[in-house]
Amino acid sequence: MDLCKLRMYLTDIFLPNRCPGCGKLLTWDKLMCGSCRKKLVSLDVCPICGKRPCADHSALKFDRAVCLYEYSGKCREAIYALKYSGGINFAIYCGKELGKNLEEQGISRDADAVCCVPMSRKKRRRRGYNHAQLIARCVAKELDKPFYNDLLVHSDNLTEHHRLNAAKRLENAEKSFAPGNKQRDISGRTIILCDDIYTTGATLNACAACLKQMGAQRVYAVSIASTVQDKDN
Ligand SMILES: [Zn+2]
Ligand SMILES: [Zn+2]
Repeated sequence: MDLCKLRMYLTDIFLPNRCPGCGKLLTWDKLMCGSCRKKLVSLDVCPICGKRPCADHSALKFDRAVCLYEYSGKCREAIYALKYSGGINFAIYCGKELGKNLEEQGISRDADAVCCVPMSRKKRRRRGYNHAQLIARCVAKELDKPFYNDLLVHSDNLTEHHRLNAAKRLENAEKSFAPGNKQRDISGRTIILCDDIYTTGATLNACAACLKQMGAQRVYAVSIASTVQDKDN
């Protein structure tokens, strides 16, 4: 038994391992029960914008969206558990699945680094952690790529002085995000940007615009779930 498995085994004794979809007790080596896994609805969406029906491609600041499931049913419950109940199983599970997906699509080969949508300090204090960061760390581990937590910063966390500079730099992008660590040179690089849910795309677009202004050549917007319209509509 390696150290990681031993730690999981010991954790299980003190903190029972539960399915993020239904709350059922799981053995220490499982991330989600088989029944909930089967209820996750795979996406049938446009491979560029990740939506059904297609979003306006000319408005996209990222190059492609990669998502796993429809934001509904078990997926919605598991994401809720990830955000509010401190259950990190779903982030690890989806990190592995996203990693596989990115490899199958040949995206991981070109990727240089992984980052996430930053969270304001206030929100982070309330939630305890940034779940997008957790997903990004899992994806980075799966792909064996560096994870840059400081690439982007939420504008609420900037000092007044930095806020003014950032506002100038951001120009067209929304003012919620700004470049973080200036030592990180991402000129000409391909960046994987992670979040949990892709709804209107405003957040991912704002972050992608920021990364492009920092010199990134390509940005892949990667998330667990995408909101889609019913096929009957
Ligand atoms: Zn379950
Ligand atoms: Zn599309």
